[in-house]
Amino acid sequence: MPEAPSFVVERSNFAHEFMSIRGVVMAEMESALLAGRYILSDEVDRFECAFAEYVGCEHAVTVNSGTDALLLALEVLDISDGHEVITVANTFHATALAIARTGARPVLVDALPDTYLMDLSQVEAAVSKRTKAIIAVHLFGMPLNLTELRALAQRHGIALVEDCAQATGASIAGRKVGSWGDLGCFSFHPSKTLAGAGDGGAVTTHSKELAARLRSQRYFGQRVSKVHSHLGHNSKLDTLQAIVLYHKLQFLDQWNEQRRVRAGRYMEGLRGLPVMFQAGGPVPEHVYHLFQLRVSDGRRDELLAHLVAQRIDAVVRYPVPIHLQPAFEYLAYSRGNFPVSEHLALSNLCLPLRPDMTAEETRVVIDAVAEFHAR
Ligand SMILES: *Cc1c(COP(=O)(O)O)cnc(C)c1O
Repeated sequence: MPEAPSFVVERSNFAHEFMSIRGVVMAEMESALLAGRYILSDEVDRFECAFAEYVGCEHAVTVNSGTDALLLALEVLDISDGHEVITVANTFHATALAIARTGARPVLVDALPDTYLMDLSQVEAAVSKRTKAIIAVHLFGMPLNLTELRALAQRHGIALVEDCAQATGASIAGRKVGSWGDLGCFSFHPSKTLAGAGDGGAVTTHSKELAARLRSQRYFGQRVSKVHSHLGHNSKLDTLQAIVLYHKLQFLDQWNEQRRVRAGRYMEGLRGLPVMFQAGGPVPEHVYHLFQLRVSDGRRDELLAHLVAQRIDAVVRYPVPIHLQPAFEYLAYSRGNFPVSEHLALSNLCLPLRPDMTAEETRVVIDAVAEFHAR
C-alpha cells in the first residue's frame, strides 16, 4: 500500500502523469531492456526529433541534465576563462554554475519587481569587451520577452542562450521558448513541466554546426568514432528516459493548459488579499511551472509556516539570490547590489500547482491563505 501523503495538497503527482502513459511506456521499456538498446538508441533519436519539432528548431541534442545543457551550450560557443556571461541574480543556481564551470565570470543584473524576470534595461550597461553571451531565464514558467534582447545581442555580436528549464512549452508571440536564441537549454528533471523519471536535458538550435558540436561534446569529444578531437563530456539521455519523455510530450500542451486554468483559479480566489502575482496573468504563453505569490505585508515566513501547518506543500523559490550564495562569494558582490532579487527572496513563496489539481484542492489553499490574513 502507498503511504498516506504527508500533505493534503501536494506539489506533484507522479502517479497521475505515469498512469497517462503507462501501457505504452511499459511495453517499450521492456522491449528496449530486453534488446539492450540503452545508449543513443532509436528511442533517443525519436525523442530528439519530436522535441525539436515541438520547440520549432531544426535540432535538439539531449544530454544528462538541464545543468549540462547549459554547460555544453556555453562550451560549444567557445566560452572559457577570461570571458563574461550576463544573467540575472534571480534564478536557480544552475544558471550561474554553468557559466562559472566554463571558467567565465557570471555578470549579474537585477530582476523586475512585477515579472521577477531579468531587468532588460540593465543589460546594456553590463556588456563589456569580454562579454560572450547572455543567458535569458524564463523563470517559473513565464517567458522573458526576447525580441528586444535578441536585437541587443546582435548589436553587440554576442550569443543569446535561453535557460528554458522552467518553461518547456511556453511561447513568446506564438513562438516557443528555445527557438529564439542561438541555443535553448531544457531540463527534464522530475519537477519540471516535461518531467522525466530521473535527470535529463536537451539543447535546441537552428544551427547544424552547433548541433554537431553538441553531439560531439556530449560524447567524449568524438566527431568520428574513436577520434577524440577535443575534451568533451559523457552526458547523454538514456533510452528509458527518452521513452518516458516522448510519450509525456504528447500531453504537454494539455497539462500546461491545465496549469493555466488552476493558476487562474488562484488569482481569482486570492484577489483582494495582500498578495501579488507574477505579472502577465494567465496569458497563453505562461506555463506556470511554479505559482509564485508575492506576500506584500512582510509576513511571508509566517504565511509559509501557516500553509505547511495546514499540510499544504508551499515552498520558497529562491530564498537566497545568486550573488549572496557562498559559492559565488568570489564574484565579490554584496547585499544591496540587486535589491529587487533580494526583496523577492524575502517576499515570494510558491503554492502547489499541478495539472491534475482539483478545484477542491485549490479551494483548500485559497481558504488557508484567506484565513491567515483574516487573523
Ligand atoms: C532546474 C533548473 C536548471 C537545471 O536543470 P537540472 O536538470 O536540474 O540540471 C537550470 N536552470 C533553471 C532555471 C532550473 O530551474
